[in-house]
Amino acid sequence: MDHSKSQAAFAEAKQYIPGGVNSPVRSFRSIGGVPPVIAKGSGSKLTDIDGNEYIDYVLSYGPLLLGHAHPQVTESIQTAAAKGSSYGAPTLAETELAKLLCTLVPSMEMVRMVNSGTEATMSALRLARAYTGRESIVKFIGCYHGHHDSLLVKAGSGAATLGVPDSPGVPKGVAANTITVPFNDRAALEAAFAAKGSDIAAVIMEPTPGNMGLVLPQDGYLEFIRSITKKYGTLLICDEVMSGFRSSEKSSQGLYGIDPDITCLGKVIGGGLPVAAYGGKRQIMEQVAPVGPMYQAGTLSGNPLAMAAGIANLTYMRGHNVCSQLESMTAILTGGLAKAAAKAGVPVQLHRLGSMFTVFFTDQEVYDYDSACTSDLDAFRIYFHSMLEQGIYLPPSQFETNFLSLAHTPEDIEKTLQAAEIAFSAVAA
Ligand code: PLP
Repeated sequence: MDHSKSQAAFAEAKQYIPGGVNSPVRSFRSIGGVPPVIAKGSGSKLTDIDGNEYIDYVLSYGPLLLGHAHPQVTESIQTAAAKGSSYGAPTLAETELAKLLCTLVPSMEMVRMVNSGTEATMSALRLARAYTGRESIVKFIGCYHGHHDSLLVKAGSGAATLGVPDSPGVPKGVAANTITVPFNDRAALEAAFAAKGSDIAAVIMEPTPGNMGLVLPQDGYLEFIRSITKKYGTLLICDEVMSGFRSSEKSSQGLYGIDPDITCLGKVIGGGLPVAAYGGKRQIMEQVAPVGPMYQAGTLSGNPLAMAAGIANLTYMRGHNVCSQLESMTAILTGGLAKAAAKAGVPVQLHRLGSMFTVFFTDQEVYDYDSACTSDLDAFRIYFHSMLEQGIYLPPSQFETNFLSLAHTPEDIEKTLQAAEIAFSAVAA
């Protein structure tokens, strides 16, 4: 593949934008090389400015459930744009999306729209603190909830990839209120509650973590979290920014039968435009201004273009059985990847849920951040670059999740598996 135009464009980008990117993991820093500079996306494919085409398993880190430029989503955005891009006043579309979200996620009785997952989790924490009058929070090591101060502590995703789980600039006093425990470890959570239970406002969790690669909860673990939080009067915040409508149409809380107090959503609910939301029990949400005293606001929150994209994405999803179709396709792909890895003699752990999956390059069981870190990052790097050169675009980090879209075809899967055979052989060589 010729990447000369991308190389020149990325060198110029680095002059004006830190690292040439507006979000660190896009930079290829951990795996080396220059990221293709993208000209367009269509269906399951991305095309870079050199004209190379890739089958895309990043899908903008999750939002594009229907693929790039899905006709219904595109048309809805165009129709909305023709009527003006923002009003700073209520619209019918805001209520329509709010109603749809509360129907799809029954634990949410009311919901507030924001512009990013970071804003959603930041606001959810403030709300939990306001509601309980407590200050401490618990998060799980390797879970990423966005880049605000309270939660950029032992975070996964780009922070894990770049080896800066604790960012400079986070005030010690803020980080001191964040208690971190390993995922799937009951004793550690019990100990945290035994030490500080009466001051813990909230436990925030990705019920099915996707930011240390995809890690699944062990049997009964989420129920255990729900029951210990209830016992101590602590709110449970389910961060489903990634897993929402990816793990299943019911999201992870519906799949595992968990009833959280507050839920954060993002990614899929905006169909590729900047939308996220936090919502929950009416009694809690009525603490939010202007009904209650907990202040949170946004100039562009509930933006009409973003609402239109979200409504189109979710309405299509509901009407076309998208999540279960994607689950079947993901099972076929991961089954093929497991076979290809075994054939090449490369030890991997393959995790999948709904339309998400991760190939961990390790022979150890992966159930938390430490076990995810047993992965052979060199093997991942070889696999990644081999796939890229064969036109398969994967997330550029071992600690990210791959996604499928409705636009992926059986031919795409076939081509991906053929490429994987070569990539795993390269790892084994
Ligand atoms: N929460 C989870 C689970 C995420 O995966 C992410 C982003 O990847 C966020 C929150 C932050 O969302 P955003 O990048 O939109 O701020």
